[in-house]
Amino acid sequence: MDKTKRYSEQLKHLKDESLYRTMHVIESAQGSHITIDGKEYVLFASNSYLDLCNNEYVKEKTETALHTYGTGSGGSRLTTGTTALHSELEGRLASFKKREDAIVFNTGYMANVGVIGSLTAKGDVIFSDELNHASIIDGCRLSKAEVVKYRHNDMEDLEEKLKLHKGKNGLIVSDGVFSMDGDIVNLPKLVRLANEYGMLSMIDEAHATGVLGANGYGTEEYYGMEGVTDIVMGTLSKAVGSEGGFVCADGTIVNYLRNKARSFIFSTALSPVTIASAIAGLECITADRVAALRNNVQYFCDRLHAEGFDVQSDSAIIPVIVGDEQKALAISAKLMEHGYYISAIRYPTVKKNSARLRITLMSSHTKEEMDGLAGLIGRYCK
Ligand code: PMP
Repeated sequence: MDKTKRYSEQLKHLKDESLYRTMHVIESAQGSHITIDGKEYVLFASNSYLDLCNNEYVKEKTETALHTYGTGSGGSRLTTGTTALHSELEGRLASFKKREDAIVFNTGYMANVGVIGSLTAKGDVIFSDELNHASIIDGCRLSKAEVVKYRHNDMEDLEEKLKLHKGKNGLIVSDGVFSMDGDIVNLPKLVRLANEYGMLSMIDEAHATGVLGANGYGTEEYYGMEGVTDIVMGTLSKAVGSEGGFVCADGTIVNYLRNKARSFIFSTALSPVTIASAIAGLECITADRVAALRNNVQYFCDRLHAEGFDVQSDSAIIPVIVGDEQKALAISAKLMEHGYYISAIRYPTVKKNSARLRITLMSSHTKEEMDGLAGLIGRYCK
């Protein structure tokens, strides 16, 4: 009996559908330029929007932490894994997001799974945008609450669905910036509805932190309404240039999560080295860097406009929709031949036949690099 036959059949199916995934091995630090197989590429696919993964200040601070604290954390946060650096980072995150308290998880994925699973119970309802990130979807799957999907950023649809569940407890959850489309949640309306219907409001700030608002504080700053959302989740793995996830909220919710979120309790804490790089990365989120990123996004959108594409983005994510999966892969390969690295995003990350090039900008990209890419997109994507 061939025990692995069904897996090899599935892999063949993925290949036939142009949905098979492979990895490129990067031989350099993550910056606007990377090396693969000895060849240099301009990177337009990273979530390191402020180019902080290889920043000198961050590396110095991280090295100091390495010498003070060593490498591993040796235990979960509730046993031996909390260093002074973990506490410092949580304090800084709370003030960055203007909240009473914060809790750091090992990844953004674990934060979403832990928060959604622990804050909701049987009989509750979770209202979730249909384009929310997979980690939110998996958090919903782990919860015992009923899950109601609403149409993407469609607040009328959300209200219709809220009306059907009036009187129940629960949560409305949405990406702040949608990871594969780059658009922004209608936060004023979402929060108004949450308050009207007695639901907790939650936003995932993975792609908004360090990007939206003059200081990079995120979606609330973008709308000029800081402090209005009940639960602000985010990641340290994108603009901050490190790794980890976090939740900022009032003291009761954060304390509850420390006691109840299984992905927080039952996993070894992040290394102090990673935490030190997150603290230093957070310090580097300055209005100047955020403005440089925003200027680059505007410049690149203008350049794509000149090439005939109707694009606009207030985040650092600019999707160029190709549709067909095979075509998206072929264009991505063509761009690599020209020295540009852009990922082709396919199902199940996005819907079938909506494959795309997910272009992400960094604050450090030059005009020449953006001109070069816009020209190639014009040549290959029409
Ligand atoms: N939320 C969103 C919107 C994301 O895009 C991601 C990562 N791609 C996550 C959560 C998970 O974060 P992490 O990579 O830190 O696990």
